[in-house]
Amino acid sequence: MFDKILIANRGEIALRVIRACREMGIQSVAVHSTADADAMHVRMADESVCIGPPSGTQSYLSIPAIISACEITGAQAIHPGYGFLSENANFVQIVEDHGLTFIGPTAEHIRIMGDKITAKDTMKELGVPCVPGSDGGVPDLAAAKKIGEEIGYPVIIKATAGGGGRGMKVAKTAADMEQAFMTARAEGKAAFGNDEVYIEKYLTTPRHIEIQVFGDGKGKAVHLGERDCSLQRRHQKVFEEAPGPCITEEERARIGKICADAVAKINYIGAGTIEFLYENGEFYFIEMNTRLQVEHPVTEGIFGVDLVREQIRVAAGLPMSFGQDDLVINGHSIEVRINAEKLPNFAPCPGKITQYHAPGGLGVRMDSALYDGYSIPPYYDSLIGKLIVHGRDRPEALARLSRALGELIVDGIDTTVPLFHALLEEKDIHTGEYNIHWLEKWLESNLGNS
Ligand code: ADP
Repeated sequence: MFDKILIANRGEIALRVIRACREMGIQSVAVHSTADADAMHVRMADESVCIGPPSGTQSYLSIPAIISACEITGAQAIHPGYGFLSENANFVQIVEDHGLTFIGPTAEHIRIMGDKITAKDTMKELGVPCVPGSDGGVPDLAAAKKIGEEIGYPVIIKATAGGGGRGMKVAKTAADMEQAFMTARAEGKAAFGNDEVYIEKYLTTPRHIEIQVFGDGKGKAVHLGERDCSLQRRHQKVFEEAPGPCITEEERARIGKICADAVAKINYIGAGTIEFLYENGEFYFIEMNTRLQVEHPVTEGIFGVDLVREQIRVAAGLPMSFGQDDLVINGHSIEVRINAEKLPNFAPCPGKITQYHAPGGLGVRMDSALYDGYSIPPYYDSLIGKLIVHGRDRPEALARLSRALGELIVDGIDTTVPLFHALLEEKDIHTGEYNIHWLEKWLESNLGNS
């Protein structure tokens, strides 16, 4: 086992990893930008190293600075968290070339899944059901129009290097194709330096269902059921739950086995998420994330396992501490993402926290790096906390969420907390009847948001 792990991240996820390290008796090293000198992850780690100025590109994304921090502190392994360098295959290669261990999948697997066309081809070959669409990249507008006719409108044009909801455009009819195709290409080029796009059938009322998988890198893998992340704004998740309110035991067992078998076959190591759209009882693969997800705590909630601990174990060459038969669902878990954003338009709202009080009690977990008097810097993601609740069933979890949100105090800035109070008044949230468009429609009619 490692003696010391460096965490190449900040905020709540850096704390999350530090917590796992501490429970395992492993020393932790925080890295931080000059803007984060007072951050909680710096305070909580055993050691810290300043790696650069505020801008993410010069600090949390600076590979030389992070490798040097490992060398200075003697850390043997790097946990990337999510975002930043977590899905950067080049980084993984450099980490390994320096004799260090990357806590995550191999560079090869990250590369395959990071290119959406290659990912889809690979998954198709491994027996995972995919959304009907173009066979690989679409070279020009004429080809795009031809595919549109073949698969039928509406279609979605996606940048193969896309992520975070960017580089995706819907063409409702043939008349929209030119504009959608050109925009998706331009966004792909501008945001990811790659203008290759592909086309998929646009599903009109799907749910977003993702399967958590975990592999030991030696041909053994399990699935940890699904998360329903259908409540999204601009393709970004805001409310996640496990198990999915509409997924039956049979469906879970079937799609779970397909996913576990697929990653076992490629000797996948560590945590991964296979994302699907789910409509009329069918699953359609959209992408695989080769890292820990923001919403992993809902899975931990229902299975009672620590996914970060497990990531560290397999990275150190140890076997997984659970097998498929040990994974039995207990109750229901929900996470809401609390962002420093002002409604109704979700404008980023950094600033000083004058008062902070985290909710507590049975079944409540608050993953946040906030504290009284902390100033949220304007340079990074607006996620400032995740409130996760667990109950014996869905109604109990919802009641607990409402109670815990009522206890939470974040004064001094605006947050997305009022959104969740309002959502908990909605019948559809209680019946679980929503799809990926529900929230945007709700925001439009209730907050005039567009
Ligand atoms: P990203 O990598 O940017 O997150 P994804 O491919 O995972 O992109 O898609 C993100 C979201 O976009 C999905 O959760 C869904 O809401 C929507 N989406 C993607 N593909 C389709 C599709 N074929 N039909 C309908 N909606 C889609």
